[in-house]
Amino acid sequence: MKAVSTAIGYPYIGENREWKRYVEAFWKKDLSEADFALKMKELRLKQVKHQQSLGMDLVTTGDFTLYDRMLDVSTMFGMVPDRYGWQGGRVDVSTYYAMARGTADAVASEMTKWFNTNYHYIVPEYDGKTLQLTENYLLTHFEEAKNELGIITKPTLIGPYTFVQLTKGYDKTSKAAFVLQLISLYAAVIQQLADAGAEWIQLEEPAFAQSLDAEDVKLIQEIYKQLAQEAPEARLMLQTYFQALSAYGELSKLPVAGIGLDFVHGAEENMESLRTDGFPQDKVLGIGIVNGRDVWRADLAEKAEAIKAVLSLSDAQEVWIQSSCSLQHVPVTTQSETQLEPVLKNALAFADEKIVELTQLCAYAREGQWSGNKSVSESMEAIEALKQHEVRKNERVKKLVSEVKEEHFSRPMPFKERQSVQKQALQLPDFPTTTIGSFPQSAEVKRTRKAWRQSKMTNEEYAEFVRKETARWIRIQEEIGLDVFVHGEFERTDMVEYFGEKLTGFAFTEKAWVVSYGSRCVKPPIIYGDVEWTAPMTLKEVAEAQALTSKYVKGMLTGPVTILNWSFVRDDLSREQVANQIALALKEEVQALEQAGIAIIQVDEPALREGLPLRKEQWNDYLAWGVNAFKLATSGVKNETQIHTHMCYCEFNDFIEPIRALDADVISIETSRSHGELIDSLKQHPYELGIGLGVYDIHSPRVPDIEEIDTILNDSLAVISTEQFWVNPDCGLKTRGEEETVASLKNMVEAAKKLRRQK
Ligand code: GLN
Ligand code: ZN
Repeated sequence: MKAVSTAIGYPYIGENREWKRYVEAFWKKDLSEADFALKMKELRLKQVKHQQSLGMDLVTTGDFTLYDRMLDVSTMFGMVPDRYGWQGGRVDVSTYYAMARGTADAVASEMTKWFNTNYHYIVPEYDGKTLQLTENYLLTHFEEAKNELGIITKPTLIGPYTFVQLTKGYDKTSKAAFVLQLISLYAAVIQQLADAGAEWIQLEEPAFAQSLDAEDVKLIQEIYKQLAQEAPEARLMLQTYFQALSAYGELSKLPVAGIGLDFVHGAEENMESLRTDGFPQDKVLGIGIVNGRDVWRADLAEKAEAIKAVLSLSDAQEVWIQSSCSLQHVPVTTQSETQLEPVLKNALAFADEKIVELTQLCAYAREGQWSGNKSVSESMEAIEALKQHEVRKNERVKKLVSEVKEEHFSRPMPFKERQSVQKQALQLPDFPTTTIGSFPQSAEVKRTRKAWRQSKMTNEEYAEFVRKETARWIRIQEEIGLDVFVHGEFERTDMVEYFGEKLTGFAFTEKAWVVSYGSRCVKPPIIYGDVEWTAPMTLKEVAEAQALTSKYVKGMLTGPVTILNWSFVRDDLSREQVANQIALALKEEVQALEQAGIAIIQVDEPALREGLPLRKEQWNDYLAWGVNAFKLATSGVKNETQIHTHMCYCEFNDFIEPIRALDADVISIETSRSHGELIDSLKQHPYELGIGLGVYDIHSPRVPDIEEIDTILNDSLAVISTEQFWVNPDCGLKTRGEEETVASLKNMVEAAKKLRRQK
């Protein structure tokens, strides 16, 4: 049996985020273009060499990018919108970054989430221009590894079907022309790679794991038939991930040399497909067995059993033992962590450790047995030790979770009745104005927090600083004339870390960064134990703010599903169980706020949508427990207490039912970039609970004028009644400057007042 160890991709940021440093230095002009290109090349080669030194048989290239791999494909094919003034030929890096980040004259391309991950890609725009091959960067990367390291790599690129699915700008009539041009260019790139000596070329097709109808299947078949005709020499490895391959019966017969399947997410369905349809004996089977989405050490014995089962069902002659998806979704190496407690650290595996696991599993697959290596028992012991850790044995939490009943998922009074109770109790004007929570995190706020973190400041001094900044913004809100205030979130860095540090069961790393988009990296916390509330987390800041004003100050919390989705989560419990633990902890906080007299409490769930499974038919399962977790956290309050929530990037059309199911008294949603669309969808799907449509885009420093907000408000009146109507910006203001924030909010308040006079 031939077995090859490989990964679908590797994190490009480097152990110390060198990649980010170079990219940002180049943006700031601290690095010349030539030096930047050199640094990038050095990093690429270092990473290829490093993976090989870990024992990996087949290293991937083309997984490295200067910003985003979808953008790499767009620019490779000359899909550069006219607004960037590109004249044809090679797409230079400044045009490349203009598309990614925008310039003074041209807005950036849209960015959106990569399937069900927290990574965001740049959405390709097709504008009808003839496509052209501008530069085959994959060839460059392949040849540099071959010539300078003597390593024959496997170039990878996003597959044509997935690329088509994620591109915007074509319609039914122009689609065929777009697809045809695209296939020829893909074929040219692939053929050049094969001519240069690439033995394998990997095409990533995560869209094959989404729901596919007959028309989609037909399009895929045509694309791959055409590719095979135009690049007959190339050996293509078709990689699917994040879910089982849809339409396996048909798609496993595509004219490619290998098919990679995810045996972590979608394992059962893929196994069932192998059982019913068998595996084509002329192809190599990629067995995605090591989880590319989590940070946990694999149970090698269990994984070996799984491989055995796949082998016996598929009868494949050659297999690749690989990660379930690209390792870009996990941090680089646990070796960079010096502060984690040993039991936890020993149970973790980041990209490098996962590669070692792949080589061990590959040896097993090759030999059909474990030959005298201790890795199996070591992995078992590490996992067992974590299981026995006292952080996983919190009896109070287990009891609380076991006592959760259906009635804890709903408020005692239906919305309509609550609405009038709250109207009476709160006495807010029509069209109440508010903000989403955070105010500008100025350089001073960031500097002070850093000093405190580095112990250059006492806890008291830091608290005093936060108190002053909060008080200053209470005054500013009074001056602006807002109706419902916030404390400003100056004590928080991000929405999850702040809470994780105060709850039990969370661990924080030093260097476990993953890219969220472009050069922005996040360091998700690791939920490894039972989550328990031990003391109020937000009460002090909110109550102090409330004491300074007679206006309402909203309590401000991050919701259970968002905390879950933005963390790496223990895998010995279901996600539902962990979500309920977090929800119960938040419920305590909600109650503490309410008892202290906070009348309005906002629980943000910006990440509810991104956790949606790839297949629509699986949405309901996820939403059922996700929505319940939110309700578990928020339903224990008095009828008078008003629960708000907030969501970003919310496509209302297919999400209105879940939003309604949250039963939040008020939701604020980020929409200002496509207001017309939102109003249309509200026409089609009437919504009756409180709602604040974001009336201006906070992602830009531009100050919206009164007339412009006024128009949006008036248009919204067609679909939203006065009783439910709130007025707010579309997201938190922490990235904005003070001056523009104040000016924008003043205009917003003026527009709301105008609307009141009009009524
Ligand atoms: N309350 C948070 C803030 O204003 C919400 C952030 C978000 O929507 N992502 O910053
Ligand atoms: Zn938001």
